Amino acid sequence: MNSIFAGLSTTIFETMSRLAREHDAVNLGQGFPDDAGPLDVREKAAEAVMTGWNQYPPMLGLPELRRAIAEHYARFQDVVVDPDSEVMVTSGATEAIADALMALIEPGDEVVLFQPMYDAYLPLVRRAGGVPRFVTLQPPHWRLTREALDAAFSARTKVVLFNNPLNPAAVAFSDEDQALLAEYCVHYNAIAVCDEVWEHVVFDGRTHRPLIGFPGMRERTVKIGSAGKIFSLTGWKVGFVMAAAPILKVIAKAHQFFTFTTPPNLQAAVAYGLGKEDAYFTGMRADLQRSRDRFAAGLAGLGFATLPSEASYFLNIDLKASGIEEDDVSFCKRLVAEHKVAAIPVSAFYAQDAVTTVVRFCFAKRDETLAAALANLKGVARRK
Ligand code: GLN
Repeated sequence: MNSIFAGLSTTIFETMSRLAREHDAVNLGQGFPDDAGPLDVREKAAEAVMTGWNQYPPMLGLPELRRAIAEHYARFQDVVVDPDSEVMVTSGATEAIADALMALIEPGDEVVLFQPMYDAYLPLVRRAGGVPRFVTLQPPHWRLTREALDAAFSARTKVVLFNNPLNPAAVAFSDEDQALLAEYCVHYNAIAVCDEVWEHVVFDGRTHRPLIGFPGMRERTVKIGSAGKIFSLTGWKVGFVMAAAPILKVIAKAHQFFTFTTPPNLQAAVAYGLGKEDAYFTGMRADLQRSRDRFAAGLAGLGFATLPSEASYFLNIDLKASGIEEDDVSFCKRLVAEHKVAAIPVSAFYAQDAVTTVVRFCFAKRDETLAAALANLKGVARRK
């Protein structure tokens, strides 16, 4: 068997969700909302199942969805792409990332990865024959620095895999950090694969600025998004890729043999959803921000030291600063079994030099769920 996959453990998300079920715990581990998602978008999908097309859609995605994607990103991010040659629909952002890595990497090429990194990245890079070069970001600010980029980039750098906003750190990278990264991509002639699935889930009045919009990046960026995160429908697995035509063409070759297409009924509903009025997107953010604030205040009241959450469904705590002298993995195991709350140990997102004192909670939940978790967390923090 292939040693990369044979040697992997089950993903931390599946592991913690299983433990949450076994211990009948409140599951704030795996990132998914409690709520069912917007009714009108779900109705469109149901209607499309009953009256629409249910055979293979075009390999690149329904034309109406590719047009909706192009209009959506022009409207929200000033990104102008040609829906026919620069947009493709995938079965989730994870497929888009796999397609891009398989299509772009030649064995021996170096790939720059930023730790903490989403757990799918490294095995996919390795399986594609890429040689990982890590940039390790440090809490609480998780900033990019020139020294760290100098150490990671080389003449062999082919791809930079960049997640912004960054899960699990819940940070939205500043313009300054992104300009710095763009400078390195241009200088080393690297392609940036940008996982921007959290682009709409940003707080405190932020607007997402995509790396593809920075000088020199339009022709060397693969921009990836996800309907699951935009519409709180994480199980739908409808992703999008945008890239200059010569790059997209090759990524489509990988897609055609991984999944080939994505359910057409869900695509039709996402095409409708992307065109929704601004109020939907601002309302979604405002609701999540309220949950974030509620949960952060609750944790602080219980003596936990929280890290800033600028984006995503996640809020992190620092164990050490909360008076807990345990590593994140043993803490999370004890928490789910004894206190009935599932969380994610952030060390799972590192290949080396792991930070072991940060634990991630998902706050994209109903008030009752967050209140139940907070009640269970009473007495856990030991901060004086
Ligand atoms: N993106 C989700 C998270 O960060 C997990 C998705 C999954 O379980 N594969 O929690």
